[in-house]
Amino acid sequence: MKYRAFTKNNFDGIRAFNKLSPDQVHAIRVVSEVLPFKTNNYVVNELIDWDHFEDDPMFILNFPRKEMLEPEHFSKISWMIEKNTDRSELARYVHQVRISLNPHPAGQLEHNVPTLKGEKLTGIQHKYRETMLFFPSQGQTCHAYCTFCFRWPQFTGMSELKFAMKQANLLVDYLRVNPAITDILLTGGDPMVMKASVLERYIDTMLKADIPHLKTIRIGTKSLAFWPYRYLTDPDSQDILRVFRKITDRGINMAVMAHFSHQRELYTDAVSEAVKQIRRTGAQIRTQSPVLRHINDDPDVWATMWRRQVDMGMIPYYMFVARDTGAQAYFGVSLEQAHEIFTGAYKRVSGVCRTVRGPSMSTGPGKIRIEGIAEIRGEKVFVLNFIQGRNPDWVGKPFFAAYNPHAEWLDHLEPAFGEREFFYEEEYNRLIEEDLSEKENRRKSVAHF
Ligand SMILES: *Cc1c(COP(=O)(O)O)cnc(C)c1O
Ligand code: SF4
Repeated sequence: MKYRAFTKNNFDGIRAFNKLSPDQVHAIRVVSEVLPFKTNNYVVNELIDWDHFEDDPMFILNFPRKEMLEPEHFSKISWMIEKNTDRSELARYVHQVRISLNPHPAGQLEHNVPTLKGEKLTGIQHKYRETMLFFPSQGQTCHAYCTFCFRWPQFTGMSELKFAMKQANLLVDYLRVNPAITDILLTGGDPMVMKASVLERYIDTMLKADIPHLKTIRIGTKSLAFWPYRYLTDPDSQDILRVFRKITDRGINMAVMAHFSHQRELYTDAVSEAVKQIRRTGAQIRTQSPVLRHINDDPDVWATMWRRQVDMGMIPYYMFVARDTGAQAYFGVSLEQAHEIFTGAYKRVSGVCRTVRGPSMSTGPGKIRIEGIAEIRGEKVFVLNFIQGRNPDWVGKPFFAAYNPHAEWLDHLEPAFGEREFFYEEEYNRLIEEDLSEKENRRKSVAHF
């Protein structure tokens, strides 16, 4: 199957285009000025149910719609487009709207970018002791964009191979001096949009460095859901599988961290075959997704997904709470709902599916799981716990927030029992300040995000 992308400039080439009403087409044009819009022939032809597309989770996941913007923002952009407003004026307004949507949540841009010999390592984030994130510059786009996601691509015009080489060497230098790191997680965007030759350059550099403490290479990707042909019919599909095999042959865990949002993504022939091919290389596949209103805010969906994933040989890993960014007003569910959805699904699957953890918020201080809702000495509280902490010692110490049925994120929560702050806050603020003052000296170009 040959990959074909559809964006705001050519989506009238979609076969089902005539199903969209003029209002829907206009809404896509308006919203896609702000939120990224890209879909492809696999999503359009094999995942979306065009007979019921208006409520279809796959359609909602890929196609912008009016409700994803504030009414005020929508009407102003709509008006500007209709009036044929000057592009630069439109761009200025769009920028303003984006800023209002909190494009860089949880201090992603500012914190956790390490330095080595006084040089800031853009493209690397090291927040949790054992696991380092790496954003290969060629992997900062995706096969299709999720409407809830704000990580649009940051194209760099650099020569791919040369730049990969330079980045990979820095990465290896950093790994060498940080023996606590066991895992490297390649992320994006979607690293699997990279050519096999570029991926291989990174992997070869890491393998050649022969770092004894590097135990696991993970790749975070939505490709199994959005373009499983990546492992089947792309010109370099076999090379991709060969690179995975190369990693496992060296005794290093290769884990595909696959993003699946709905069971629909798990039933095509292409995805079944792709999963088989990947598993044959000795790689594991672990699955994760945020919980999203209009897409998967239903315990049935999660139970079905986990069951099906396990049947296919994948390992359920995370349920995330949707980040406080982009169209969260449209997609967000309350922490209480997230917890109910998680528990509702968890209790109806067998132990082999219960490898999953969640619902988890990826916040500045760490990954915080909602353990449950309890009543303690007459006060209704959320019981929370760190799955990962900026300080590893925070993990495994349950803490309590006053129950709030409307809270969708950590910053909507107050400590329970009239306490002034959560146990980690003072230390967290200190860590952040150290991080920032270090940065004052060499404030250069920003990291990817
Ligand atoms: C989630 C995450 C990781 C990986 O955490 P695991 O619990 O090991 O999967 C690493 N770094 C950051 C910044 C993360 O958000
Ligand atoms: S595939 Fe991942 S990075 Fe890409 S748009 Fe979807 S959520 Fe965002």
